[in-house]
Amino acid sequence: MRSSGADASRAVSPRTREECLALDAADPLAAYRASFKLPPGIIYLDGNSLGVLTVAAAQRIEQTTTAEWGTDLIQSWNIHGWINMPARLGARIAPLVGAAADEVMVCDSTSVNLFKLASAAARSRGNRSKIITERGNFPTDAYMLQGLTALVPGLELQMLPREQIATAIDRDTFLVVLTHVHYQSAELFDMTALTARAHAAGARILWDLSHSVGALPIDLSAARADFAIGCTYKYLNGGPGAPAFMYVRRDLQGDLQPVLSGWLGHAKPFDFVDEYAPAEGMTRHRCGTPPMLSFAALDGALSVFEHIDMNLVRQKSIALSELFIALIEAQGPETALELASPRDPERRGSHVSFAHVDGYALIQQLIGRGVIGDFRAPKLMRFGFTPLYLRYVDIWDAVQILREELDRWRRHGPAAVTRHAVT
Ligand SMILES: *Cc1c(COP(=O)(O)O)cnc(C)c1O
Repeated sequence: MRSSGADASRAVSPRTREECLALDAADPLAAYRASFKLPPGIIYLDGNSLGVLTVAAAQRIEQTTTAEWGTDLIQSWNIHGWINMPARLGARIAPLVGAAADEVMVCDSTSVNLFKLASAAARSRGNRSKIITERGNFPTDAYMLQGLTALVPGLELQMLPREQIATAIDRDTFLVVLTHVHYQSAELFDMTALTARAHAAGARILWDLSHSVGALPIDLSAARADFAIGCTYKYLNGGPGAPAFMYVRRDLQGDLQPVLSGWLGHAKPFDFVDEYAPAEGMTRHRCGTPPMLSFAALDGALSVFEHIDMNLVRQKSIALSELFIALIEAQGPETALELASPRDPERRGSHVSFAHVDGYALIQQLIGRGVIGDFRAPKLMRFGFTPLYLRYVDIWDAVQILREELDRWRRHGPAAVTRHAVT
C-alpha cells in the first residue's frame, strides 16, 4: 500500500513501521527536513508552540550581528534596510495568508497587535458599543479586550460559547474577534461564513491566525476579512518571542486611526515634530524601534516558506494527524485517552489534543523519553504536527513510546512530577 504523500490523507493509514518508511520515501515535502536544525534523538511534536530553529535563521542572525550590527553599526538602518523590515517581512508573509504585500506588516507581539487593531476599530465604531469574542479563546485575546473595555467608557465585551457567536452579532456590534484554529481543541472556525455574518450586521471581524499561519492555506482576501493578527514563532519558526504580524484590508487602511501612535508610525518620523500625523497604509501601525535580531531570525525562517505549496502542507498535516489518532485509538479504551479535537480533519487545525486525568505527568514522562508535546490545563495533552520536519515514522515511533509510558502509568500510576512555570 505505497502511496504518494500528496494523497496520503486519502490513503489507508499505514499499519506497520515499514509502511511509514515507504510513505516518507514518497513524501514530496521530505527534503524540507534538511532546512531545520533538529536536535538528535527527539521527536518534536510542539512546533505549534515554538517552531524549530532553521539553518537559514541561524545564518541570518549571524550575518546581522557580525556583518551588519558589528560592522556597519547605525548605518545598517539604511544600508541593510533595517528600517523597512516590518514591511518587507509583512510582504513575505502576505502570500501565506492570502493578502497583498501592502496589507501585512510585522511588528510587536500578537497581544499588542490585537490591542492596536481593536482600539483603532473602537475609534471609528460610530454609535456601536459591543465587541464579541469566544469564551475559552486564547486568554491574551480576551485579556487585551478586557483592558480596552475598561479604558473606554461605554464599550462592552461579550464572551460567548462558539455556537452562540453567529447569532449574537447584531447592530450594536462593531468588532468580532475570533481565533481561526482553537489553541486547545484545534477546532476551526469557518472564516468565510463568520466574516460574512459579521458584515451582514455591519460589524468588522478580526481573525487571530496564530495557530493557522504556516499550517494550512488561508485566504483572507477571498473571505473579505477586515483585520488579522498572528504569531510567527509557531508554525513559521521565527524564534522565541519573534515579532508578530498584522493585516488590514487595503480599503480600510485609510480610515483606521491608531491609538498606539508611536513615532515610527508618523508620516515623517525624522522631522521630529510635536504633533502626530499618521503615515500611509500599514506603516501608521508601527510603534517604536523594531528588534532587529528577532527580525533577522524571522527573515531567515521565512525563506523556508518561499515557494511552498500550502495545500501539500495541509494534506500531510492531515495524514500525520490521522495516523496519530488511529494508532492511539487502536490501543483501546484502557489508555484512558480521550480525543479532545474534532474527529473530522476538515474541522481541525494542525494539532491534536487528548484529554487524560494524568495528562501533565504523562507529558513529562514523554518529554523524558524524547517525545516533546505540551500540556494545557486542566487535562489536555497537546501534540502538534509540522509537515516540514516530521516524518510518518516519527509518528509511529512517538506512539510506541506513548504506549510504553501508558503501560507504566497503568502499572505504577503517574510519575511524580513538579509543575514547571511553562507547561
Ligand atoms: C500563541 C497565541 C498568542 C500569543 O500571543 P503573544 O503576544 O505572542 O504572547 C495569542 N493568541 C493566540 C490565539 C495564540 O495561540
